[in-house]
Amino acid sequence: MEKHEYYMKKAIEEAKKAEEIGEVPIGAVIVKDNEVIAAAHNLRETTQEPMAHAECLAIREASRKLGTWRLTGCQLYVTLEPCPMCAGAIIQSRLDAVIFGAYDPKAGCAGTLMNLVEDQRFNHRAEVISGVLEDSCAHILTSFFKKLREKRRG
Ligand SMILES: [Zn+2]
Repeated sequence: MEKHEYYMKKAIEEAKKAEEIGEVPIGAVIVKDNEVIAAAHNLRETTQEPMAHAECLAIREASRKLGTWRLTGCQLYVTLEPCPMCAGAIIQSRLDAVIFGAYDPKAGCAGTLMNLVEDQRFNHRAEVISGVLEDSCAHILTSFFKKLREKRRG
């Protein structure tokens, strides 16, 4: 568990980078052999790309670094439960496991709305470990949206 918290803190650092540039603060890192090989944060507003979620960007970076689309032996840490798109990318990239912090009642597809990542019908599954540093991960998001609402109210 300590190991999971260590890497989740790295993902939280990424989420904070997103917040600094006005992005919804979600961060992700990919770990292989106890080493962070990719780190990314949500860039949807900056890039105006619907697919610029932290998980997808981290997966892309890890694949480039390893020179393969197969991320076997890698674990993805993300501050928020993956959406359907990212859950799909996790399956497609053959990641071993996904470890997430906060649950997403509106889009979570690693156990909340459905569990795409561990569905036995797919040809590949990744193990899901949920709720690691949940409070810290959720707090970054709730405080971001609270500040946003206050800003809009003027
Ligand atoms: Zn996503």
